[in-house]
Amino acid sequence: MSDQKEQVVLFEERIPIYPRSVKGRFRKMKWAILILAYTVYFVLPWVRWNREVGSGQAVMFDIHDRIFYLFDLIINPQDIFLLAVVLMIAAFLMFFVTAIAGRVFCGYFCFQTLWTDVYIRIERLVQGERPARIRLAKSPWNIKKINKIILTHFLWLLVSFLTGLTFTLYWADAYELINQFFRGQAPFPAYATTLFLTIATYVMAGLAREQVCTYMCPYARFQSIMFDKDSLIVAYDEKRGEGEAGRAKLAKKLKTRQDREEKNIGDCIDCGFCVQVCPTGIDIRDGLQMSCVSCALCIDACDAVMDKLKWPRGLIRYASENELEEKKTNLFKLRNIAYAIVLLLAISGLVWSVMTKSLLSMSVMQVRNPLYVVLSDGHLQNSYDIKLNNKSQFPMTIDLQIQGLDNARLDLGKIKKLKIDALSSLNLYVRIKSVARKDVSGQIPFKFVVKTVAGNQIVEESKDALFTMHDVVSQ
Ligand code: SF4
Ligand code: SF4
Repeated sequence: MSDQKEQVVLFEERIPIYPRSVKGRFRKMKWAILILAYTVYFVLPWVRWNREVGSGQAVMFDIHDRIFYLFDLIINPQDIFLLAVVLMIAAFLMFFVTAIAGRVFCGYFCFQTLWTDVYIRIERLVQGERPARIRLAKSPWNIKKINKIILTHFLWLLVSFLTGLTFTLYWADAYELINQFFRGQAPFPAYATTLFLTIATYVMAGLAREQVCTYMCPYARFQSIMFDKDSLIVAYDEKRGEGEAGRAKLAKKLKTRQDREEKNIGDCIDCGFCVQVCPTGIDIRDGLQMSCVSCALCIDACDAVMDKLKWPRGLIRYASENELEEKKTNLFKLRNIAYAIVLLLAISGLVWSVMTKSLLSMSVMQVRNPLYVVLSDGHLQNSYDIKLNNKSQFPMTIDLQIQGLDNARLDLGKIKKLKIDALSSLNLYVRIKSVARKDVSGQIPFKFVVKTVAGNQIVEESKDALFTMHDVVSQ
């Protein structure tokens, strides 16, 4: 037995990756999604929106006044359950999409992928294609190298800063904030958020890159429980690529498919192009790996090689494990159908909630100390704190009534007319006076009902409450 203790390696130094550029249908699709995502993200804070009151910004999350503006939709704190529904939709959409098509979210839509793509593009523009970048990294430090490295990091930091600054513009009026920001008059959180996101973007997309996907992202960890043999993944067709005698380069007498078939050699010419374009630096021919973000760039690379050789495409392709084993792929399985049903229900619920969202909310709380008062004329009086929230863009004149209490009267004190400004709330203290009934003791349920008009929409809201009836007769 050896005395030597086994060494546990807790940290592995990052091996730099220099992805090669590639052209193809998936690369085009990824650029299109990237341009769309960047346009939406960077342009949206500057888009104005016509509203009667409140912010003139199309999308703004006004933390100070606790109102979120999403075009014509205005979300108040009382509507926060909508956020829970949105999160639920996002979760089930991810389960559903992952079960069907693997990590497509990672490969096409994830912020990490989108920002890393741009950073690699900048690196390529400044330092050149993969071989030039490798040469530069290995070369001794000189003025040319220093200039290139500084320019790359400067551009990365610039994109990081714009990303961080744009994020803060969603939380206040963009035009006002930008003005204050560069004059040193913006609130401290604006500077802190911009600084934090600048650093985070620079580190994540510029320095850590694929390590975020491999080591930090929790999605990569639990994806395996969402996958099965029917899920579409970016896969290397091992049977076709390796044949029985394995892969081989395009050597003499191995240049045609016929030659290779005769020698039981597969279609993979071991050119390594699929590995060179991979942003996470893995070899898809080793099988499904946690580091694979399903970006499909290796498909484009291999398709380009196959096209050049005039061999059929698809040696690397989107395929299920069952398909690769020449079995049937079944996407209409109970789990996928269940995900789809829950997803549809959640989306319908969200649409219904938004369409029927009340423009007025009311909360009622009975004053408990004292629960009732016996007045000198023998009537009983209960008091209530009522809060009314006008969630619309129009001022409201409120008609407040009670229903279900016979011989009772609502007393608003000195208030003659109930008025609430747009996007405002009103706190009321009201009393109800009732004849003391001999036949009833305990609490009688009734309703507060409010009616009003917001713009051209009639709004009605009601809230259940209790009237405490003291048994005067029994005393
Ligand atoms: S690009 Fe295609 S042919 Fe070239 S090594 Fe990769 S799988 Fe083989
Ligand atoms: S193996 Fe292919 S699909 Fe996976 S990350 Fe690399 S290039 Fe993208």
